[in-house]
Amino acid sequence: MGWARAVVAVVLIAPLTLSACTTGRAPTPPREESAPVGDRTLAENLAATATGSAAFVHLQALQDIAARNGGTRATGTPGYDQSVDYVADTLRRAGFDVQTPTVALGGDGDDEDQGGDAATSGTTRNVVAQTRSGRTDEVVLSGVHLDSVPEGPGIDDDGSGVAAQLEIAARLGADAPVTNAVRFVFFGAEEEGLVGSQAYVRGLSEDAQRDIALMLNSDVIAAPNGGYFVYDGDGSDGANTDAAAPGSTAIERVLTDRLVSRGVPARGTPFVDDSDYGPFVAARIATGGVFSGDAGTKTDEQARLWGGRAGAPFDPCYHRACDDIGNIDRPLFDRMVDTVAYGIGAFAVDLNGVPPRSERAAQ
Ligand SMILES: [Zn+2]
Repeated sequence: MGWARAVVAVVLIAPLTLSACTTGRAPTPPREESAPVGDRTLAENLAATATGSAAFVHLQALQDIAARNGGTRATGTPGYDQSVDYVADTLRRAGFDVQTPTVALGGDGDDEDQGGDAATSGTTRNVVAQTRSGRTDEVVLSGVHLDSVPEGPGIDDDGSGVAAQLEIAARLGADAPVTNAVRFVFFGAEEEGLVGSQAYVRGLSEDAQRDIALMLNSDVIAAPNGGYFVYDGDGSDGANTDAAAPGSTAIERVLTDRLVSRGVPARGTPFVDDSDYGPFVAARIATGGVFSGDAGTKTDEQARLWGGRAGAPFDPCYHRACDDIGNIDRPLFDRMVDTVAYGIGAFAVDLNGVPPRSERAAQ
């Protein structure tokens, strides 16, 4: 699909009116893309409409951007700037007010050197959009990173998260019937050392940090030899570099339960401070998300659990030129998009055990 056709397809995505009814506990919804049913919850409606196949349009658009710009969407390149424009335009068409705050680059990150020749000085941009509805002191923040490494187009890492989040935002709409405001942030310069997310969190006042009830991170959620990981909110899955904040356990439970309800066995994975959740964990904000695995190797047990090849990386093209549109497990991506959509919808209506503002302020 070419650039122009991708844009036309996006125009057709209109925000849907979603029921906020939470009284009818419906069974697992079917996956057809039919109109929402009235007695589904907002979470179920969002998961039924923001599908992996719909999100794939955005993945193709990101691939096309990279292809026209030397095969990359890295920080400091035209491919990154066009990625910002694509995301901002799509959000505006869905009715959102969109900000693209500038972020200074340069030696401030704490991630390992990613190599390459990406810009290490100058500026980049985050993209931020929030629903006009819902409590602004109980914000559900969904975050992904919009940049690739210099070596490739970054379609699994993190085009998958970008496409999922963008589709979910478009389907939710800016005036969704939510209890808690939903904020969508597309971070710049993650691959330069979490630069965009660190600047974002540091730029918030203490009050504004406390207004964030939770952060859901989606980074690499479609690996071709992937698994179904949920970030470890309760400390049960190995050594975390940072202790997750209260409420992270509730996030892990909601996302795990959604996967299990759809017949997918999920496993915990520790926070290791190599994605945009890091600054939120450090700020003691409840944090979680799903992850398909990237450079790690799939074990025999994981291959038995999920299929795929034991002894091979989850994503053999991680940070390489071949992380392109062919580097996506479509069924896995579909289930991960479903889980993220469900999670955002669920927390937008009910904090599900994440501490409310009054208890966060008392920490
Ligand atoms: Zn990533």
